[in-house]
Amino acid sequence: MQVHIDRDSCSGTGTCVRLVPARLRMVKDGLDTYAEVIPDGEATEEQLWEAAEACPWAAVILESDDGQVLFP
Ligand code: SF4
Repeated sequence: MQVHIDRDSCSGTGTCVRLVPARLRMVKDGLDTYAEVIPDGEATEEQLWEAAEACPWAAVILESDDGQVLFP
């Protein structure tokens, strides 16, 4: 399963990062703070689903390995 962050939708709450700290991290860019995917980070599919469903802005995007959008 692939995970992506829609930076334009991310409000920087950090909720997803707290749930999947080995796969997502917070990044600060000037006044902007947002989540990003850690290259080669690890998380179970269950953890990724939990993080995606917890995001208030549906900014955590899940895709199957063949590119099909699974969430949102
Ligand atoms: S939960 Fe959503 S809004 Fe909050 S940091 Fe993660 S992607 Fe951004």
